Amino acid sequence: MSLRLTFFDGVNCIGGNKILLEEDDYALILDFGINFNEENKYFDEFLRPRSYFGIHDLYNLNLIPPLGGIYREDLIIPENLENFKNHPWYREINPIATLISHAHLDHVGYLSYLHEDIPIITSLISSLIMKSLEDTSRIISDLCLVRRKAQENGVLKTERNKFIKRPYITFGNGSISKIEEFWNKLERKDKKNIDIVDKPINIIDYETYKISPFEIIAFPVDHSIPGAVSFAIKTKIGWVVYTGDLRLHGRNKDHSENFIEKLKEISIKVLICEGTHPKVDRLYTEEDVKENIYNIVKNLKGYIIADFGARNIDRLMSFLEIAKEVGKRLVLTLKDIYLLEALSLVGYPDPKEDEYITFYKKPKGSYDTWEENLLDRYDIQGKGISAKEIRNSPDDFILCMSYYDFHILLDILPNGGTYIFSSSEAFNEEMKIDQKKIENWLNYFHIEIRGNLVEKREESPFHASGHIHGDGIIKLIDYARPEYLIPVHTEREKNIDFFDQFKDFCKVIYPKKGETIIIT
Ligand SMILES: [Zn+2]
Ligand SMILES: [Zn+2]
Repeated sequence: MSLRLTFFDGVNCIGGNKILLEEDDYALILDFGINFNEENKYFDEFLRPRSYFGIHDLYNLNLIPPLGGIYREDLIIPENLENFKNHPWYREINPIATLISHAHLDHVGYLSYLHEDIPIITSLISSLIMKSLEDTSRIISDLCLVRRKAQENGVLKTERNKFIKRPYITFGNGSISKIEEFWNKLERKDKKNIDIVDKPINIIDYETYKISPFEIIAFPVDHSIPGAVSFAIKTKIGWVVYTGDLRLHGRNKDHSENFIEKLKEISIKVLICEGTHPKVDRLYTEEDVKENIYNIVKNLKGYIIADFGARNIDRLMSFLEIAKEVGKRLVLTLKDIYLLEALSLVGYPDPKEDEYITFYKKPKGSYDTWEENLLDRYDIQGKGISAKEIRNSPDDFILCMSYYDFHILLDILPNGGTYIFSSSEAFNEEMKIDQKKIENWLNYFHIEIRGNLVEKREESPFHASGHIHGDGIIKLIDYARPEYLIPVHTEREKNIDFFDQFKDFCKVIYPKKGETIIIT
C-alpha cells in the first residue's frame, strides 16, 4: 500500500498550488491555481496564452502538468500532443475529483482547463465566488459553466451557445432554491437556442463526504477571502491534511482555531502545510486594521479611496462598519455588488437592503449584459451614484476601488484626497501590483497615499496578512503531529530552518516540482 503525492507547482514559491494525490488507480487533484510569477516570466497583459490553442501554450511552457486524462478534450489539438507525451513526467490518470481550498486565482485560476466531468469539491461560498467571478469577468471563464470549443482550420473556436456545467459538490448551507436560481442564471443577451448540459449544484453540510475510496472532511478556515477550507482526506494509509491558505487573525479566526483543535483528534499521516509567512512578525489583526482605518477616516475631509483588493469581503465588511460609524456611504464597483448579492444567499448583508452600500454609476452605454441586468434590479432604489454626485459632495462617500478601476478617477477628476491601501494578498497571489503606475495616477490627481504599497507592507497599519504566522504554524503542526510534513506555498530558502525545527518528531519533505513522493 502506498500513497503518491506529486507537487506540480506551489513548491518553493507563493501560490500556483497543483497537487496530485494518488492511491492505487485513484487520483485527486488538490487545487489547480496559477503561478503568477512563473506565468509572468513569459506573458503580460499584451502577450497572453492563445485561447484558440486551448491548453497547448501553457502546456508547452510547463505551466500546467503534463498529464493525460485531466484536460478538457475540446481544448486539445490532437496533432499538437506529441511534445506533450514525450515529457518525462507524462502519464495518463483518471482523477475522481478536484478539491478547491478557496477561490483565489493562485489556487483556482487554471481550473478552466480541467475536464468538465471531474467533480469540483469546495465550499458553497467558494462556488458562489467562482460563479460571480466568471459572470462578471471578461477574462476568467469556464470555472462553473464551460463554453464548448470546436476545432476549425487548425484552431479552436468557441461554439455558439453550447455549454456544459461542471458538477459541484459544495460544503455549506443556505436557501437551496435561491442558490439554484443564482447557479442557473445565464448572464447573456441572446438566450435563444441555448444547448446546455446541466448539472445541479450539490450542497452538503459540513460533514464527511465519501467519494470512494476516499473520505473527505472540509474544515472552514479564516483567510483573506471568504469560504476558505482546509481538507482532511482519509486514505488507506491514513489521513492526509491539506491546509490550503489560512490565518488566525481575521474576522473568522474561530474557524481556524476550531480546525487546529480538531487536528488533535485525528491521526495524521501527512500534513501539507502552507508556509507563506513563518518568519514575518504579525503586527496587526483584522480588528487592528479596522481601528487604524477608522482613526484616520473619522478626521478626513474630501475624497477617500479605499483599495482592499478584489474579493476581500471581510475587509469590505470592516469598511462598511467604519462607514456607518462616520456617516459616509460606500461606493462599490458593480462587480463587488454582484458578489455581495451572491454572498447574501449565505448570510452576508444584502446590498439591496443596506443603505450604506451604493455603487458607482458609469456613463450609460458602457455596460455589459450582467451590469445592465444588475442595474435593472438596483437602480430604481437610487443605489447608483454618478461621478457628478461624488464631485458635488465628496465628504459623503468612501470610494472602494483598486488600480483596475482607476478609469473612475477620469470621470470624477478629483483634485486632492486620500488613498488608503489596505490589500491583504501577497503580490503574486492574485496579480502583481504596479507600484509606479498607482503612484503616477494618484500624484496626477494630488491624492495622498496612506499605507505601504510594496516595501515594508507588513508594517503598514492598514494591512493584515491573509496568512498564518510562525507561532500559529508551530501550534498547528504541534497539534497535528504528522508523520510527514510537506511545506508548500512557501519560499524554501527563506524558510527551511523554520520547517527543519519539526524534524524532531516528523519527516520534513521539501517537494520538488513534478517529483512524486511515495509514502508507505
Ligand atoms: Zn495562495
Ligand atoms: Zn489565498
